Amino acid sequence: MKKLKENTIYVIGMGPGSEDAMTIEASEILKECDIIVGYTVYLDLLSDELKKKELISTPMRQEEERCRIAFEEAKKGKKVAFISSGDAGIYGMASLMYETGVDYEGTDIEVIPGVTAASSGAALLGAPINHDFCVISLSDLLTPWEKIEKRLKAAAEGDFAIALYNPSSHKRKDYLKKACGILLSIKDKETCCGYVKNIGREGSSVKYCTLEELKDEEVDMFTTVFIGNSQSRMVDGKLITPRGYTGENR
Ligand code: SAH
Repeated sequence: MKKLKENTIYVIGMGPGSEDAMTIEASEILKECDIIVGYTVYLDLLSDELKKKELISTPMRQEEERCRIAFEEAKKGKKVAFISSGDAGIYGMASLMYETGVDYEGTDIEVIPGVTAASSGAALLGAPINHDFCVISLSDLLTPWEKIEKRLKAAAEGDFAIALYNPSSHKRKDYLKKACGILLSIKDKETCCGYVKNIGREGSSVKYCTLEELKDEEVDMFTTVFIGNSQSRMVDGKLITPRGYTGENR
C-alpha cells in the first residue's frame, strides 16, 4: 500500500481507459486518496470502487478552475488525486497544475506517469513509431494553425514517423484532410498509415491505410492517427517502422 505524502497533489496519468491499463503506482494512489478531481469523461472510466470516493469535475474549457479546486481541497488537508487520460504530461493537465500552483505555496505536485495514446495505440497497430517520431496535435484551440502546419512540414521533411493527437472534433472535421494534404506535398502517397479509435475503451477499432487514403478517412476526437516514415511497411498484417536490424535501412 502506498503511503501518500502530506500536502501533495498527485497528478495522475490514467492510461488509455480501463483500470488494468493504469500503472500499479497510479492505481494505488487512487485507492489511497480522498478526492479525485478530473474531467467527467475520465471520472466515468473509473471502477465502481473508485467512484465511491468524492469526485469533483468541471466541464471542458474550465481547466484552470478544475486545477484551483484541486489546490483548495488540498489546502483543507484532503488527499487529492487529479486525473488526466494517458499521460498527464502529454497534452494533459500537468503543466497547468504547475502554473496554477504558483498561487498555492505549501502544496506540492507529484506527476505520476501513464501510458500515452501514442504508446497504447502503436501497440494495437504493430510497431509504427519504433524509430524517431514526432507527436503533433491538430487542435488549434491553443496553437495557431500556421504553427501546426509548420510542424507537420518539418516532421515530413525530417522523415519522422508521426503520431497525430486531436485529429478531429465537431468544429474541425476537415483538419485531418488538411494535414494529409500538407504531408502529401512532401511524403509518398503510398506511405503506410493507421489509426486507432477508443483505445482500451468500448468500441475500440484499428484501421490501416495509405497516406492518400487517410486523407478521406473519418476520424473523431477519440482517435490517434499514425503516419509511417519512408521505411514503414506492413508485415504480417501489422504496421511497422523498422529500426534497421535486417539491413535494409542502413
Ligand atoms: N494526455 C493524453 C492525450 C490527451 S489529448 C494522452 O497522453 O494520451 C486527446 C487526444 O489523445 C485525443 O484526441 C486522441 O488523439 C488521443 N487519445 C487519448 N486517449 C485516447 C484513446 N483512448 N483512444 C484513442 N485516442 C486517444
